[in-house]
Amino acid sequence: MEDCIFCKIIKGEIPAKKIYEDEKYLAFLDIKPNTKGHSLVIPKKHITNFTELTKAEVGELAQIVHKIAPQVVKLLSSDSFFLGLNNGRESGQIVDHVHWHIIPRYSDDGLVHWPCKEEENKLLDETFSKLENKIK
Ligand code: AMP
Ligand code: ZN
Repeated sequence: MEDCIFCKIIKGEIPAKKIYEDEKYLAFLDIKPNTKGHSLVIPKKHITNFTELTKAEVGELAQIVHKIAPQVVKLLSSDSFFLGLNNGRESGQIVDHVHWHIIPRYSDDGLVHWPCKEEENKLLDETFSKLENKIK
């Protein structure tokens, strides 16, 4: 897609620090890393977000992440990582070309888990009633 920054990276129109590439997928360092080695894995085909991936594409993308994430952290002397995928604006998705974040974790990286809040049982019950036995 013409205006897509990640498509431009794929086409070599803008530079990126590529760490893995095959026929259909690409991984490169995030320019604003949360931690050392923060990488993004993308399909070369322009697909806006996770929900638009086919079952087969989800499987392939997950397998690439599964293959490279442990190698990324090992090469950077860690054995821990966080995986994240923002889907939609409210989630924080800025780039509309699906991408899976690999964020290596280190004991002293200063990252904090996002805040968890205490939820009243009543509200949990309400949420649960909307979801229980509804997902096919
Ligand atoms: P998200 O908020 O999930 O859409 O994440 C988009 C990510 O892409 C951010 O972490 C950005 O730092 C990263 N990013 C944006 N432009 C580039 C680029 N040209 N090269 C590498 N990473 C980028
Ligand atoms: Zn794109």
